[in-house]
Amino acid sequence: MSVLVVAEHRRGELRDVSLEMITAGRQVTAATDGDLHVAVIGGRVDEYAQQLNREGVDVVYTVAEGEEFNHDVSVQTVEQLTVDLDPAVLLMPHTVNGLDYAPAVASRLDRPLVSDAIGLAVEDDLVVTRELYGSKVETSIAVGSERAAVTVRPAEWPKTEAIGDAQIETADVTIDESTIGSTVRGFEETTGGDIDITDSEILVSVGRGIDEEENLDLIFDLADELDATVSASRPIVDSGWLEKGRQVGQSGKVVTPDVYIAIGISGAVQHVAGMKDSETIVAINTDPNAPIFDIADYGIVDDLFDVVPALIEQFEA
Ligand SMILES: Cc1cc2nc3c(=O)[nH]c(=O)nc-3n(C[C@H](O)[C@H](O)[C@H](O)COP(=O)(O)OP(=O)(O)OC[C@H]3O[C@@H](n4cnc5c(N)ncnc54)[C@H](O)[C@@H]3O)c2cc1C
Repeated sequence: MSVLVVAEHRRGELRDVSLEMITAGRQVTAATDGDLHVAVIGGRVDEYAQQLNREGVDVVYTVAEGEEFNHDVSVQTVEQLTVDLDPAVLLMPHTVNGLDYAPAVASRLDRPLVSDAIGLAVEDDLVVTRELYGSKVETSIAVGSERAAVTVRPAEWPKTEAIGDAQIETADVTIDESTIGSTVRGFEETTGGDIDITDSEILVSVGRGIDEEENLDLIFDLADELDATVSASRPIVDSGWLEKGRQVGQSGKVVTPDVYIAIGISGAVQHVAGMKDSETIVAINTDPNAPIFDIADYGIVDDLFDVVPALIEQFEA
């Protein structure tokens, strides 16, 4: 089965999901001896193409149309490339941009679309794993069609790191300028200021166990000692104690830091969905039966108001 991956960039940076989709695509091409093609649209396409030249990629197609994401350009480009290359599997990111154009492309190509994939396998058909019922159930969907479109959840596959020997080609795509109905006029950060919790190697994450807003100082003190960033479960954000950009989980950010310290967080499925792929998980909770301990590598069953000051003292020393 051949695969076409549509890469994503934002504000001048190739996003990690692009290299994660290459890993996902390789899973399919390796199992079926197919070609792996990658397309990158707009911005510094030549630079992105070099970064996308990773092991397993046969051809990177560049489309130098505009600087930033544009719905109409993406729809037309991905549609034309898919018609030309005829990949069995079209992989797009399950991101704000991907969700903007993927359904339109799938509809125009008359392909079934499976969204938010967290696993791919090839049996007789392509089999896509996704979650249902607020992440309580995982289901495998056999796509009963020779041609499919899939959006891939960020941070579910590792990035493909090894450099490859892909050809880099300018794609032969014609954009009908008269159909472009919208353009990006600028960006404004709405939450979190310049804090991007997805960038942090260490996250100190706080939940309802902290009890009161004033007690958050303790968590920031620990984060300072560790050179870490503070993130939170949803109730902390819903209470207005921390900004939305710091929320981890299904309706927050998906994070994969080297170390995730969950303090006074129970480990509800909606929270775990956003942090379960962290390299090392440390949990501090008074309740030995808290579900967070099911996925923690290290667990401390104790009162956070005793443990956190002791940790700060330890790291200060
Ligand atoms: C559609 C939907 C989307 C959602 N999206 C998200 C999301 O993106 N992110 C998210 O986090 N949640 C989300 N939720 C909410 C989620 O279901 C949980 O309610 C939430 O994660 C619980 O947060 P918590 O663990 O901080 O609080 P709680 O569940 O109240 O847990 C607090 C924990 O602190 C421990 N504790 C209390 N005192 C102490 C102490 N002194 N020392 C140590 N431990 C202590 C308790 O034992 C308990 O385990 C969503 C829910 C829905 C329905």
